[in-house]
Amino acid sequence: MNEPHVVVVGAGPVGLTAALTLARRGVTVTVVEQGPDLAAESRASTFHPPTLEMLHSLGVGDALLERGIVAPTFQYRDRRGGEIATLDLAVLAEDTAFPYRVQCEQSRLTPILLDALPSETDIRFRVRVRDVVQDGDEVLVRTDQGVLRADWLIGADGAHSAVRKALGAEFAGTTYPERFLVASVDEELDAALPGIAPINYVFDPDEWLVLLRTPQHWRVLLPTPAGTPDDDEIARLPERLNGVADLGRPWQIVHASLYRVHQRVTGQFRFDRVLLMGDAAHVNNPLGGLGMNSGIHDAVTMAAALADVLAGGPDDVLTETARRRRTVAVEHVQRTSHDNWSRIRADRADNAAEHERLRALAADPEAARAYLRRACLIDSLS
Ligand SMILES: Cc1cc2nc3c(=O)[nH]c(=O)nc-3n(C[C@H](O)[C@H](O)[C@H](O)COP(=O)(O)OP(=O)(O)OC[C@H]3O[C@@H](n4cnc5c(N)ncnc54)[C@H](O)[C@@H]3O)c2cc1C
Repeated sequence: MNEPHVVVVGAGPVGLTAALTLARRGVTVTVVEQGPDLAAESRASTFHPPTLEMLHSLGVGDALLERGIVAPTFQYRDRRGGEIATLDLAVLAEDTAFPYRVQCEQSRLTPILLDALPSETDIRFRVRVRDVVQDGDEVLVRTDQGVLRADWLIGADGAHSAVRKALGAEFAGTTYPERFLVASVDEELDAALPGIAPINYVFDPDEWLVLLRTPQHWRVLLPTPAGTPDDDEIARLPERLNGVADLGRPWQIVHASLYRVHQRVTGQFRFDRVLLMGDAAHVNNPLGGLGMNSGIHDAVTMAAALADVLAGGPDDVLTETARRRRTVAVEHVQRTSHDNWSRIRADRADNAAEHERLRALAADPEAARAYLRRACLIDSLS
């Protein structure tokens, strides 16, 4: 094959964004996905302003906006005291054409990305990558359906990445002490908790929580001890939700799941002709909604740098882009999401001072702008 050929492993939001970025530059792409179809599970639901800009540049931003909810504000609340501060993303008007977050399930973005890929893109479902071998200028991708040959490989195959394991790359970091329980509920929470924003981080030393509006449901995220049987925790959920707001009847729970949360990163994102991106390269806790967003930023920036190399540009720019994305994962994404976790669960004395700081922040547009530029990952791209 004379045309450079890139294989992308994983049809999640990151793999499909990388594939679309390459395809828009005329690169021949094959996407392999182990699942029979795109994943439908409930995961990321927040899109930050720079991600919206990138998706618009790829021509898929309007389709996402049509399916999502525009959230111009988010709120910090105290479980007992109510609203602490509401931050208004309008202060970012000079920084972005999209001074808001969009609430939409990631499972609604992936079909949009898939549809946007040119018809000649080779997309293979039910193909599981088992091993990857670099052989000179070629990458051999061993799958359960045979071997694929590529000039370059992108591993966007999620937190348990087979590509990362085949490279022998470590995934160093820690696991959080508690599990996270996420429940989608069919309730109008703004009626039960007047004044809440579409996104709410509710501080409490004993039982903090997050309330997120999605187009179909409200989503409630609760910390849950490690080690107890899942069924016991799911059985306890109605009582815990009743403690969030007493509706005078049981909450209508549509779906609930428990998961462990890790903060991990690989030592490098480029291994010669193999690039790792998204959850395959770094994972963090979901507080602040940074995982998928930063993964999409990896995809757009690293795939663009790869397209430049394939067009004859200097190779070291790709190395530098991959290095920069690892720095962003550690210094922006992991640090910010970990700070969010520490703050939301801090004891009351520590949080009293934090409440004052957040109120002052919300009242000062320049300070709020600086804070939001970091929280929304704008600074991570400059
Ligand atoms: C409950 C929850 C809530 C979250 N909330 C947010 C949020 O609000 N905001 C945010 O930014 N992030 C959030 N995240 C994180 C976000 O979901 C991930 O960061 C995002 O899905 C990463 O995308 P990805 O494409 O890298 O990986 P994935 O979405 O995991 O996609 C990887 C794909 O690779 C496929 N695959 C895996 N192994 C193989 C193989 N060997 N061969 C072929 N295919 C393979 C998988 O089937 C999958 O389709 C949340 C995560 C969870 C679990």
